[in-house]
Amino acid sequence: MSLPDQPVLRFAPSPNGALHLGHALSALTAWAWAQRLGGRFLVRIEDIDPERSSEAHVKGIFRDLAWLGVPWEEPVLRQSQHLDRYEAAAARLAHLGLLYPCFASRREIAEANGSQGAPRDPDGAPLYPGLHRGLTPEEIAARRQSGKPFVMRLDMAKALALAHGRLGGAPLDFIELDEAGGVQRVACDPARWGDVVIQRKDVPTSYHLSVVVDDAFQGITHVTRGRDLFVSTDVHRLLQVLLDLPAPLYAHHRLIVDESGRKLAKSARDTSLAELRAAGASPADIRRMVGLG
Ligand code: GLU
Repeated sequence: MSLPDQPVLRFAPSPNGALHLGHALSALTAWAWAQRLGGRFLVRIEDIDPERSSEAHVKGIFRDLAWLGVPWEEPVLRQSQHLDRYEAAAARLAHLGLLYPCFASRREIAEANGSQGAPRDPDGAPLYPGLHRGLTPEEIAARRQSGKPFVMRLDMAKALALAHGRLGGAPLDFIELDEAGGVQRVACDPARWGDVVIQRKDVPTSYHLSVVVDDAFQGITHVTRGRDLFVSTDVHRLLQVLLDLPAPLYAHHRLIVDESGRKLAKSARDTSLAELRAAGASPADIRRMVGLG
């Protein structure tokens, strides 16, 4: 149980691969903030991806965290067991008229974007060109009847209009903290993501939806995570406003990069904590390697 106003922090890995040094920095950062603030520390398993998540990776996460000396509370929330909660949140957005089904394949989207090169989102992916935004109910019914798979997208323009109305003139922004105690308000521009996918073809949720629903459900007060997710916070703030969820504080930490300056990925060539441990590294070595020693 939380005391009133007790900070709650979390480390939220996706069990799609072995934890590496970047995860160690994330977990240790969240744990250190929790200690400093006298707060709770939770681990959340973000396993909504049925293709890529595995039990072996979940076990590996717990083994690595225990070895690193980062204790967490039980029970651990596993997103795959709460799909109904995300569906309920998506239903709320649909009820507000903010979602629409998109049946377009990757190829159709690329063709609609044309050869000129479409504008890109902050991750570098071509922006969705709005292909199925205006389908009539009859067109939707016919496509659904033919069994075509579809995703549910957020109508970004409508969502922003509604959010701005709810904010009553206040800006859509979030509070970013840094380790040194600095505080800044960051203005959000979720439109640069276009009509984001809220429910995928294979699961009735998405990273953006589940993370926002669970941060609120678990009462997370401080979201600490890597700088690579800083740009996603725009979408998260928008969803929080649309779903009437509280706004946590954010702290996006530096990333661990390889020799060529690229962020570590979960590929075999990156140094996993399990490999480092097998090669004789200690938890103190890991702290040093991620710059916390
Ligand atoms: N599950 C995400 C990841 O492993 C992190 C989500 C978050 O911290 O918001 O990249």
